[in-house]
Amino acid sequence: MTAVDSSAATAPSLPAVPFLDLSAQSIEIADEVLPVWREQLLTAAFVGGVEVDGFENEYAAYIGATHCVGVSNGTDALELAYRAVGVGPGDEVIMPGNTFIATAEAASRIGAVPVFVDVDDDQLLIDVDAVAAAITTRTRAIVPVHLYGQTAPVEQLRPLAAKHGIAIVEDAAQAQGASAPAGRAGALGDIAATSFYPGKNLGAAGDAGAVTTDDPGLAASVRMLQAHGSVVKYEHERVGVNARLDALQATVLRAKLRRLEAWNGARRSAAATYRELLAGTDGVRLPASRPDHDDVWHLYVVRVEQRDQVVRALGRAGIGTGIHYPTPVHLTAAYAHLGYRRGQLPVVEAAAARVLSLPMYPHLERGHQVAVADAVRTAVHAAGSRT
Ligand SMILES: *Cc1c(COP(=O)(O)O)cnc(C)c1O
Repeated sequence: MTAVDSSAATAPSLPAVPFLDLSAQSIEIADEVLPVWREQLLTAAFVGGVEVDGFENEYAAYIGATHCVGVSNGTDALELAYRAVGVGPGDEVIMPGNTFIATAEAASRIGAVPVFVDVDDDQLLIDVDAVAAAITTRTRAIVPVHLYGQTAPVEQLRPLAAKHGIAIVEDAAQAQGASAPAGRAGALGDIAATSFYPGKNLGAAGDAGAVTTDDPGLAASVRMLQAHGSVVKYEHERVGVNARLDALQATVLRAKLRRLEAWNGARRSAAATYRELLAGTDGVRLPASRPDHDDVWHLYVVRVEQRDQVVRALGRAGIGTGIHYPTPVHLTAAYAHLGYRRGQLPVVEAAAARVLSLPMYPHLERGHQVAVADAVRTAVHAAGSRT
């Protein structure tokens, strides 16, 4: 007992590091946002208007798409994008098993069937050969998910999609600003959905999302479906939904969009710092990037054995972590009715047991990362020696 006490007393005091710090972002934009919010409140300018139009134009220009339709959240954005390309009841939508469940939910909501495929072991992004093998006569869309801030192989999927007349719907929720040689995430496929949930690289002060596309017809469909299926008020052409972007959120998004390049740059340096601090650490597999792809590190995901033990040890050391995702979507209770069995998507399933997201955000400091890296080394070593 004395030994424990004395070692605790002599242990270096490491700073606690949260998994995510969003208030640092709010502090940067507060002076810009609050006067506009005050004006919006006093003039009751809540729906549509200059802030929403302004954000849509600025976001479209930023990612290099012709059209942007601001919507209520990322899940609605996906549903509207699926419907715009013609996905309907009974149609199949191919997507990776390693994604947030919303990619699948949005398909289920319109009566379509998510078809889950495996990912590549290097980046955990949708596997092109697995997609090719999953195509049937009912396939209506393929969804490359730009997970963790890395662009999925849209260019390689393109010939496959063209050959079968299938649409490519990007899920760009984790990749605002990420780029591939062909362009930015959200401007690589036929249409894209993104989320501005507060924790994303570009986050609102609540829920928000967008659909982007170069196709004027698809943009018009999304706009119509988003507004109760009408272009002219009270003339309803299709059964739509209410999925508007609030003016208050558009104001926050405009302020943050002006800082997104700088914040993504800070994430890139933080990723480089983790690489430097953790390179060569036994038992820690670092994330891989492809050359010519500018990743935006929404999450910094390493892979370790005995992951749950490592998570607990990091928690005791004051280090916040996340797991993206502990249960692959095809094995969730929500999708049990589709009848997938363990072992069907081996890469996704092996990754789910090992992935560990380390603290990552633009305002993360090097001192914090040193503490994280030290704690990871200690935790991984301890977990390894216990097995
Ligand atoms: C966050 C997220 C979504 C859903 O966005 P919401 O705004 O929360 O509805 C969809 N797909 C992925 C990959 C996400 O990370």
